[in-house]
Amino acid sequence: MLRKVLLHKSGCPQLKRCFSVSNNLLEKHNCKVLVVGGGTGGCTVAAKLTKWMKKDEVIVLEPADKHYYQPLFTLCGGGIKTVQDSYKSMQSVLPPKAKWIKKAAGKFDPDSNTVTTVDGDIITYDVLVVATGLQLRYEKIPGLVDALEKFNNVGSIYLPQYAEKTFKVLQGFKDGDAIFTYPQSPVKCPGAPQKICYISEDVLKSMGKRGGAKITYNTSLPVIFGVKRYADALWEVVKKRDIKVNLQTSLVEVKPDKNEAVFENLETKERFTSGYSMLHAVPPMSPPDVVTSCKQLVNEAGFVDVNKDNLQHVKYPNVFAIGDCSSSPNSKTTAAVAAQAPVVHAHIKAFLTNDKSSLAYNGYASCPLVTGYRKCILAEFDYDLTPQETFPIAQNRELWSMYVMKKDFMPVLYWNLMLKGNWNGPQIVRKMLRLGF
Ligand SMILES: Cc1cc2nc3c(=O)[nH]c(=O)nc-3n(C[C@H](O)[C@H](O)[C@H](O)COP(=O)(O)OP(=O)(O)OC[C@H]3O[C@@H](n4cnc5c(N)ncnc54)[C@H](O)[C@@H]3O)c2cc1C
Repeated sequence: MLRKVLLHKSGCPQLKRCFSVSNNLLEKHNCKVLVVGGGTGGCTVAAKLTKWMKKDEVIVLEPADKHYYQPLFTLCGGGIKTVQDSYKSMQSVLPPKAKWIKKAAGKFDPDSNTVTTVDGDIITYDVLVVATGLQLRYEKIPGLVDALEKFNNVGSIYLPQYAEKTFKVLQGFKDGDAIFTYPQSPVKCPGAPQKICYISEDVLKSMGKRGGAKITYNTSLPVIFGVKRYADALWEVVKKRDIKVNLQTSLVEVKPDKNEAVFENLETKERFTSGYSMLHAVPPMSPPDVVTSCKQLVNEAGFVDVNKDNLQHVKYPNVFAIGDCSSSPNSKTTAAVAAQAPVVHAHIKAFLTNDKSSLAYNGYASCPLVTGYRKCILAEFDYDLTPQETFPIAQNRELWSMYVMKKDFMPVLYWNLMLKGNWNGPQIVRKMLRLGF
């Protein structure tokens, strides 16, 4: 901030000195492609680009030391994996041919093709890829941050430290109401809030505490899952497991000192209070403020406004978005990023080489709905919510094989193929397995 003031305040009484100070501190960078965010989407697309671009032509702007494989957080919450299993150092996953600037973006200016870092460095680009993911807004629910920080009966799998805490919360559970929530906003992995509910039910069962537990899943959504084929299967699961589901019910406040949660019925707008012995809360989410505040880049909801077929910005042809911060109406998952990456890469390459690409993203996303220890329904679908199942078997069933895939196979695929730019989703596998069907 200080540097910005020094640069722009022309009324500065010591103008010469101000400029010399700021010039010493301010760094300027130039690149062909600037990728903002080195998470799943940013790292994957940078890996693809650096396969054919020269060293340092791609810059990745990313402040974090660690790169998390977030799908494992759900399993950490159930004590099946540890947080240590879920990350690697950022240095070890970013492609070596890309230049990593370990800072956060502070301002986007798509009219001048620049991004300014929070401490004032200016990066000029030919092509920009926005891959900042979503910001977790725990503070939007009064009482929730306090509850997570200071009380030992509230957990949340969306941050690693709270994911680990979730398992401790389960271990400390004695009896009473166990409440699980789904917020009133787009979320990453819309299946995760209910997966942890099913896993928790199994944990309680294994501890001999299921009899004294009343389990409730309160979701803001009007459905249990967006795709009917899997929703039907999930209604069977909750019936069989005696889990009460309240639709259109949103968590609006937590009173941790009284062990009470306040909910709003989104249909009637009525509020009611539930006592709990344990609470698992999922925060509202939005793209980071630095993205939502750049009005030229985003739609009304604050997501980067892109064409859903090629993920290219609707106004700035040299701007792309990948992953959770994009306005494309797919389910926000790693699986979606895998299918988006070759499309974004092809269109960037076409842009830089004055060529054209017809490659299009069909909205593919998948959600391994873990329904307990050793059980998983592998949901796969596209923009139209039409199932796109990879295996020539009915995937709307709880299967051990899909659980093993989620727990053991997918992390290996993620670290070794996807982040190295060599995995475009299961399209090819699906075609091979269905040959002749
Ligand atoms: C609990 C949980 C369970 C999940 N389960 C599944 C699952 O089973 N299957 C599945 O497919 N997906 C799952 N996901 C979703 C998946 O992790 C995300 O969809 C995926 O990581 C999105 O990738 P992304 O690149 O958009 O965002 P991220 O991977 O979150 O990366 C965003 C990056 O941007 C960086 N960043 C943020 N702000 C700035 C800034 N100002 N400047 C520079 N960099 C910035 C961040 O540090 C981060 O590294 C799950 C997620 C969670 C949290």
